Amino acid sequence: MKLTVIGCGYLGATHAACMAELGHEVLGMDSDLDKVQVLNTGKAPFHERDLDEMLARHTASGRLKFTASYAEAAAFADLHFIGVGTPQQPGENAYDLSYLFAAVRQLAPRLKDPAVIAVKSTVPVGTAPRVRDLLHEFAPAGDRVEVAWNPEFLRESFAIEDTLRPDRLVLGFDTKHSWAEAVLRQCFDKVIEAGTPTIVTDWATAELAKASANAFLATKISFINAVAEVCEASGADVNTLADILGHDARIGRRGMRPGLGFGGGCLPKDIRGFMARAGELGADQALTILREVDAINNRRRERMVDLAREQLEGILMGKRITVWGAAFKPDTDDIRDSPALAVAQKLHELGAAVTVTDPQAVDKARKQHPELDYVDDPIAAVQDADLLLHLTEWPQFAHIDPHRLAARAANPRVIDGHGTLNADTWRQAGWKFRALGRP
Ligand code: NAD
Repeated sequence: MKLTVIGCGYLGATHAACMAELGHEVLGMDSDLDKVQVLNTGKAPFHERDLDEMLARHTASGRLKFTASYAEAAAFADLHFIGVGTPQQPGENAYDLSYLFAAVRQLAPRLKDPAVIAVKSTVPVGTAPRVRDLLHEFAPAGDRVEVAWNPEFLRESFAIEDTLRPDRLVLGFDTKHSWAEAVLRQCFDKVIEAGTPTIVTDWATAELAKASANAFLATKISFINAVAEVCEASGADVNTLADILGHDARIGRRGMRPGLGFGGGCLPKDIRGFMARAGELGADQALTILREVDAINNRRRERMVDLAREQLEGILMGKRITVWGAAFKPDTDDIRDSPALAVAQKLHELGAAVTVTDPQAVDKARKQHPELDYVDDPIAAVQDADLLLHLTEWPQFAHIDPHRLAARAANPRVIDGHGTLNADTWRQAGWKFRALGRP
């Protein structure tokens, strides 16, 4: 099939490459010309495991191209996926849907023939009819343009795997047995044939599928982090506790990660957008739980700053603090709402000299936080440090030998934000060791 993917960020570039991998002819479209140029060289403008290799393969074969032209996109295919950003509105909980509506408004006047618009961006429930109305008003093909809702559940750092072999495929349509359903089933035929649970539903349920999945995942993380607060007060170990809880199949260990809390371009804004939309619908009480989930999450960052102050005998001013991690989680360079950078920036504001290191995210972090110092090598970054903070759980940090590091630090003190450093080994190497949620 021929198809386009409009909006080629973390979601869209991955989707475009994976659709080419499934055998389709794909045109990725993005309004950011720099991004388009990089993608056309077969490289991703961000770090995602195996994506460069897949982009290189399919741009070389000619099956995958990128453009900044809506005219080209509209002429290329009759199936258009939309994956533009839906960030949080500044100063509000609600989503900013302006990128989505701008994309639809730019595409619509160019749709002369029947087409399917499959939206993957995460939105508040009730957005699909607004997209349909815009398309029917502005497309020459009028109501022969159909809207499908295809929420995306991929996790950055597993994005390719999650796109090619998703846990489930959700397809939302306005009417049963629509033409759009046949088109999308054909597009995803290899995924469906592989046995992926495929749920065909209405628009609202498809929109809510993503909102509620992220709300649940955020709740699971904040639940264990609330328990971590009690562990800290009582001398218990939250990591062991999470293991114990996780053996109960009804609870499960996956996704229950005690630590510095969630960040990134999805969970924080998605729980806020979900609350805002519930409020608009008069169902705000249903989601007050998410306000607490958000508050617990933010308290983890504050707790880390407090622990750092405590470890430095109450004085942050002038202290040299090394932060391991800038990305919001390992194996990505995404720094959107990164807990690690939030802590680093707060410590800087409080007068500490903060040096940040990260295997992938230093360039992006430097652009967003030029006030912090950056060092590429995590061992060199510890030179003369008064305190080391382990804030993004890249596996390579856990493999660094603390004996090698101890001599470099001015004062061998470390706080583990994720419970993945081996406390005994670090203590034996002479470090004063603290961790969130552990004795
Ligand atoms: P992103 O910021 O990385 O990418 C968005 C892209 O859209 C950018 O490249 C931007 O230039 C482009 N864009 C914006 N307006 C445009 C327009 N009018 N025309 C063409 N291109 C335009 O964001 P992302 O992380 O890829 O997220 C995109 C959507 O997918 C969001 O709704 C997000 O919530 C959802 N989502 C993301 C993930 C993830 O892991 N990143 C997972 C599931 C769902």
